[in-house]
Amino acid sequence: MASQLAREWLGIQQFPAATQSKLHELLGKLKQENVSTLTILVMGKGGVGKSSTVNSILGERVAAVSAFQSEGLRPMMCSRTRAGFTLNIIDTPGLVEGGYVNEQALEIIKRFLLNKTIDVLLYVDRLDAYRVDSLDKQVIKAITDTFGKRIWWRALVVLTHAQLSPPDGLNYNDFFAKRSEALLKYIRLGANIKKQALQESVTPVVLVENSGRCKTNENGEKILPDGTPWIPNLVEVLTVVIANGSKPITVDQKLIDGPNPNARGKLFIPLLLAFQYFFVVKPIQKAIKQDMAKESKPLWELRDVGLANRNF
Ligand code: GDP
Ligand code: MG
Repeated sequence: MASQLAREWLGIQQFPAATQSKLHELLGKLKQENVSTLTILVMGKGGVGKSSTVNSILGERVAAVSAFQSEGLRPMMCSRTRAGFTLNIIDTPGLVEGGYVNEQALEIIKRFLLNKTIDVLLYVDRLDAYRVDSLDKQVIKAITDTFGKRIWWRALVVLTHAQLSPPDGLNYNDFFAKRSEALLKYIRLGANIKKQALQESVTPVVLVENSGRCKTNENGEKILPDGTPWIPNLVEVLTVVIANGSKPITVDQKLIDGPNPNARGKLFIPLLLAFQYFFVVKPIQKAIKQDMAKESKPLWELRDVGLANRNF
C-alpha cells in the first residue's frame, strides 16, 4: 500500500515532551498487539474541522484548512512512519452539499478507499452545534450504507471546538453529555442499531480543540476545559477502539458495489409465481369455468345438437 511512500513522522517532534512520550507509549502498546499499521479515515460534514484535526494529530500541516467551504472533491491520504509503525490518515471532503449528501463525493471516496483497510473512523462534528438534524442522519446513513453497520464499532465521534462556553448557563459536562447523546442517538437511528447494542462505550465521543488559542498545561500540552491533554487522550481512545474485538473494515469491490440490485429480489421470484398461480390464475380459470357452465346456450347451438325443434 502507500507504506512505501510513507515519510518519517517528524511532526511528532513538534509536540511537547509529555505528549511525545505518551504517544510513544501508545504506539509501543499497539506494536505489542502486533498492530504496526494504523489507517484512520476522517469523515463528516464540511467545515466541522476534519482537516484541522488531521493536522493536529500529525503535528504537521498536511491538509488544507478553510473557513469557507471550498474543499475539493478528492480525499487525501497522508502516511507517516515512526519506529517501525505506519500511520495512514485519510482526510475526506465534506459529504454535504446544498442540503443533501453529495453522492458524487461519496463515490469518489469509495473509489479512493478501494483495497484499503480502515482501522478506525473518526466521525467529526462540532461540539458547539446545538441541534442534530435530518442532514446529520443522512450523512450517518450514507456512511453506514457504504461500510456496513459495523463501522460504528470501529468509530470514534470527534467533537471539535471543545473550548466553548455552553449556552444558557448550562454546565460544560451536561452540555457535552447532551450533545454526545443526541449524536449517538442519530447514529443508532441512521445505522439502525438497537440501543443496547450501541452502548456509549462502543462508539466513544472525544473532544478536540484545534484552535491555536487552545489552553495549555504546564507541560505545554493543549488541554480540554477539564485539564485533559486532548491529543494523547484521542490517541488513547483510538487504541481502545482498535482493541475492542471488532474487525477492521476492508474496502473491496463487493463492499463498494453494495448489494447487487439484480440479485436482491431473485429469491422472491418463485414465491411470486406461486402466488400468482394460486391467487390469480386459478381463481380466474375457475370463474371462467363457472361462467361457461352458467351461460344459457344460444338457440343455434341448441339446434346444432338437435334440441331446438323439440317441444319442451
Ligand atoms: P473541514 O471542512 O471539516 O475539513 O474543516 P476545516 O478543518 O477546514 O475547518 C473549518 C474551519 O473551522 C477553519 O476555519 C478552522 O480553522 C476552524 N476550526 C476547525 N477546528 C476547530 C476547533 O477545534 N476550534 C476552533 N475554534 N476552530 C476550528
Ligand atoms: Mg477539509
